[in-house]
Amino acid sequence: MLRIGLTGGIGSGKSTVSAIFEQLGAPVIDTDGIAREVVAPGEPALAEICRSLGSGLLCPDGSLDRAALRSRVFQDTSRRRRLEAITHPAIDARMRQRLAELPEETPYVLLVIPLLLEAGWQDRVDRILLVDCPETLQVQRVVARDGIDPQEAWRMVRSQASRDARRQAADDVIENDGSLGPRELIARVRGLDRRYRDAAG
Ligand code: ATP
Repeated sequence: MLRIGLTGGIGSGKSTVSAIFEQLGAPVIDTDGIAREVVAPGEPALAEICRSLGSGLLCPDGSLDRAALRSRVFQDTSRRRRLEAITHPAIDARMRQRLAELPEETPYVLLVIPLLLEAGWQDRVDRILLVDCPETLQVQRVVARDGIDPQEAWRMVRSQASRDARRQAADDVIENDGSLGPRELIARVRGLDRRYRDAAG
């Protein structure tokens, strides 16, 4: 089974593209969703986070207070590393479990891994598919979608791997800079889907 790692910066269009792959019948494993699952109440990673990063990180209902966590690790590299040392292995284990559950004859699987480069997970995949667009467009989209402050959006963009680094690591690139209309974007994904099925066959 060919493992395609779909990555891209925040707001680049990963969810938009992975939804098209899903419509074409490709199995999609989304590590963003898994990242939320592994810190749900009752999960060992949540207890570990509270132990390692201190109290005051839970909402009254026992769920993780994401805003509190963000502000605790923000601009503190050592804390962020501690957090990642807890969450990344938990995400990795669940991703492998999901992979193992797929039918053997599955030609390829799309692994959506936003922080593929930052986590150094290149070896988890056979090919890297990048969804790319200019940073100004990333910021515009995130501001429009989430209603956050543009400065905050720029900080998030700058905290991630650079566009150059991503483009260098990529085997395939979807230019999601607005030059492709909705139909052309679907056609581009369809072309890649065909290629991945052929390569797997
Ligand atoms: P995140 O990293 O924050 O999860 P993402 O990479 O998954 O983001 P999307 O959620 O797919 O990005 O896209 C960000 C926003 O931009 C969404 O509101 C989406 O509808 C919009 N968008 C993405 N691609 C296009 C496009 N080609 N044309 C118009 N709008 C788009």
